[in-house]
Amino acid sequence: MPLEQYKRKRDFSKTPEPAGDPTASGTGRFVVQRHRATRLHYDFRLEVDGVLASWAIPKGPTLDPAVRRMAVHVEDHPLEYFDFEGVIPKGQYGGGDVIVWDWGRWVPAADKKYVDPAKAIAEGELHFDLEGERLKGRFVLVRTDRTQGRNGKEQWLLLHKADEFAAEGWDAADHPTSVKSGRTNDEVAAAPDARWNSGAPV
Ligand code: MN
Repeated sequence: MPLEQYKRKRDFSKTPEPAGDPTASGTGRFVVQRHRATRLHYDFRLEVDGVLASWAIPKGPTLDPAVRRMAVHVEDHPLEYFDFEGVIPKGQYGGGDVIVWDWGRWVPAADKKYVDPAKAIAEGELHFDLEGERLKGRFVLVRTDRTQGRNGKEQWLLLHKADEFAAEGWDAADHPTSVKSGRTNDEVAAAPDARWNSGAPV
């Protein structure tokens, strides 16, 4: 059942996160959320067949083609999570603050291996282009373990190809604000209920 694992981990009477619409469908958007939980990480999500396929990346994506980032494949998230920015209460799963760090469209690379992205993810390798505000160009997600990792989660790598958008030394840590609201995680934590105009891609 879609999103079963996502729902099992959360108490929706206590967290402002969306519960998920089981009838949602769509492909083509991506979002990266900067999430300060127990540890800072970046949640990298690709819209695939009505859910957000998701990886947690401790150091965040980079445009530097010499750098590979460890990415842990985590449970699919509902499409409504796409522009979620706010505070997950302490004690709830993922408790901490979240900003929309990047968003935009994604397109699978023109190769028959990636025509069905859900299948490519299940097989452990996806090449794709991002058209975000920060992230642009060709990326690769590749699974590095053929068995489950030590914590039961699949270990992957995210890397950027040496294309026209490549930028040596580019580091997510130098870009700490939300592309949705311009706020930092600290500002969201201080005023979690503030309303901001959303220029979300459709
Ligand atoms: Mn997270």
